[in-house]
Amino acid sequence: MRRKRRKIKKMALAMLVLGCMIAAATAAYAGAPSASGSSGTENRIPSERQMSREGQTLQNEQASPVGTAVSGQTVSQETQAELESRAAESLAAEVEKEAEEAGPVLSGGRYIDPSKPMIALTFDDGPYAPVGNRIMDSMEKYNGRATFFVVGNRVADYKTEIKRMHDNGHEIANHTYDHKYLNRLSADEIVSQVELCNQAVAAITGESPRLVRLPGGSKNSTVLDNVHYPIILWNIDTLDWKTKSADKAAEAVLGKVKDGDIILMHELYNSSGDAAVRIIPALSEQGYQFVTVSELIRFRGGVKNGGIYYSFHQQK
Ligand SMILES: [Zn+2]
Repeated sequence: MRRKRRKIKKMALAMLVLGCMIAAATAAYAGAPSASGSSGTENRIPSERQMSREGQTLQNEQASPVGTAVSGQTVSQETQAELESRAAESLAAEVEKEAEEAGPVLSGGRYIDPSKPMIALTFDDGPYAPVGNRIMDSMEKYNGRATFFVVGNRVADYKTEIKRMHDNGHEIANHTYDHKYLNRLSADEIVSQVELCNQAVAAITGESPRLVRLPGGSKNSTVLDNVHYPIILWNIDTLDWKTKSADKAAEAVLGKVKDGDIILMHELYNSSGDAAVRIIPALSEQGYQFVTVSELIRFRGGVKNGGIYYSFHQQK
């Protein structure tokens, strides 16, 4: 995943360098001060660190003979490639340095060590306080956080539980408003199912969910075109809803998980709660950290809206 992140950074930087060069070239052509090219690009830069680095690159390019040789014409292929490869080299060095410096990071009210294994336990179809609170009790005891993909039309009945999820650093994510299979709906209905769920959560927490899980995992091209959030599925299915057996659900996870996995469970069944309170201490003992899906995304790889994700396994 790190490679992917680097690639995205590299592309972003390459675009910026190109943008700056074109801006500088245009400015030179018009006889205007070339420094004006920098302000328009800042919004596209994700971090302050990158901003300062970009600032340096911009200065370097403007001072270099390559930069001054450009005159109102399109930048040559050769120059672009040269710039990209130079930018990529410095980015690669920086990304390696970042990884070496990484230590425990404060997130969701506790520390996460990105160098140690982490997984996301996810619970669908709630909220349902009798099970959800047991899951949170156990999670919090082991410094873990869960992700709850909630059904919007249930949310108002479990305000206290939803508040606890939010206040204690668990993640509330979107499982549509009515748990309808989105592949059977029109574009407008799909958008409304997702937005109504987000609104129901935001009405209580003030924060809108940022991730969507499709009921039944059901999708088609209309679904993919109209869900404007990252779609989070799973790579370990406990089948807890089917077996209603804590033993079987725990068995599906213990001894099978690895770093970056997303585990599917359901909040509606006592047996799932039983399985969770068994899984959490056992895996914690083995050194696993329980993180939310957003934390998994943060530490193990990026997402884009409309993309489908089953796990976040880090590339070695
Ligand atoms: Zn569901």
